Amino acid sequence: MSRFEKYCTSFVQLAGNKNGAVSPSIVGSASFGYGDSQNAEGIFDGTVKKPVYARMGNPTSAKLENLLAVMDGGIGAIATSSGMSAITLAVISIVQTSDEVISIGGLFGGTYSFFNETLSRFGIKTSFFDVDELQNIKNAINDKTKLIFLESVGNPNMRLPDIKAIAKIANDAGVALMIDNTITPLCVKPFELGVDIIVYSTTKIISGNASALGGAVVYRAIGKNDKFSSDKYKELHPFIKTAGKMALVVNAKKRGMRDFGMSASAFNSYLTLLGLETLPLRMDRITSTVEQVVKVLDENGLHVNHPSLSSHPHHQRYLNDFKDGCGTLFTIDMRSKQKAFEFLNNTTLPVITANIGDSRTLALHMASTIYSDFDDKTRVFLGITDGLIRVSVGLENAFDIISDFLKAAKHVK
Ligand SMILES: *Cc1c(COP(=O)(O)O)cnc(C)c1O
Repeated sequence: MSRFEKYCTSFVQLAGNKNGAVSPSIVGSASFGYGDSQNAEGIFDGTVKKPVYARMGNPTSAKLENLLAVMDGGIGAIATSSGMSAITLAVISIVQTSDEVISIGGLFGGTYSFFNETLSRFGIKTSFFDVDELQNIKNAINDKTKLIFLESVGNPNMRLPDIKAIAKIANDAGVALMIDNTITPLCVKPFELGVDIIVYSTTKIISGNASALGGAVVYRAIGKNDKFSSDKYKELHPFIKTAGKMALVVNAKKRGMRDFGMSASAFNSYLTLLGLETLPLRMDRITSTVEQVVKVLDENGLHVNHPSLSSHPHHQRYLNDFKDGCGTLFTIDMRSKQKAFEFLNNTTLPVITANIGDSRTLALHMASTIYSDFDDKTRVFLGITDGLIRVSVGLENAFDIISDFLKAAKHVK
């Protein structure tokens, strides 16, 4: 039995068709004929449910969006061209100049620079916190705070947030809470924990084999007396009036997708759907393999960072709140860049690349690649040490991974 058994039936049934082509069909057209002017008017005002134009959505992507919404129990989802564009879409459709953001976690390099370098140019200030700085996070919230952003697992610092506690802070303060759940789809169920908006890079474990760049935003329904009904979110109110519980989706489509155009291609949505079908099986296998691999590497004296190890500061949180695992990643600290390079050069199994969540095991030295642009202070905050190697475990046999890594470590001088 897979730990993600509850998804196995719905994912394959929803992705495939019982009549005609079984595999999801790829609708390649950029535009769609409306038939007549009455229909055209209805399509534009939303009373006729037909595609408008591929920038606003595509039938193949709609199928993927439907499945992702089912996966997370959301009211709707929007597929995008990449994970970064999902984050961009989700954030810019809520914030405006002079608003403030609180960002908690690892964080992924692109996300950090999006907040720190790019949004700041548009007059949106972000303050950054570690997952355990709950009091500082609470204190940082003010009238201008529009959004709290969080990663479900620190990538690559492997720190685990108390998502429920952070959601309570956000909900008590009436501030939107967004989570990047790229690393832990199925393992973490953000809406059940009080999160409002979920973003994914589907490029990673959801596609699962480096076949398609993609992203998605999943939204919860707007309820009665919702925090989004407060004055803070007054730009949303016209959409609450017209679209009701779908307001967050419609707002993002109109304010983000229509005006910025980070739309998913039909072909990439097709490939992502094929990946999603087997996500429960792959996730079950990989999260088990990760635990086996880190245990043996740790026992053999490598400096391994993963919350399944009792030495990890969030081990208890892992046991309590991350019972289904925390994704495909762990890190090894080789203590110096030279040793890290030597170790990686000695391996034969992993692909040396910046991606994660692939069928194959991937590995990369962090400081010389993704984080090479970052100053020392930021690297300390993000947990990037000189010898840090990030590993994303794949579908290989666990003992093949272990033996390759142990052999590589043995020959490091
Ligand atoms: C890869 C990644 C992203 C960005 O996704 P792309 O598809 O590469 O644009 C965002 N967040 C996390 C946690 C990631 O791993």
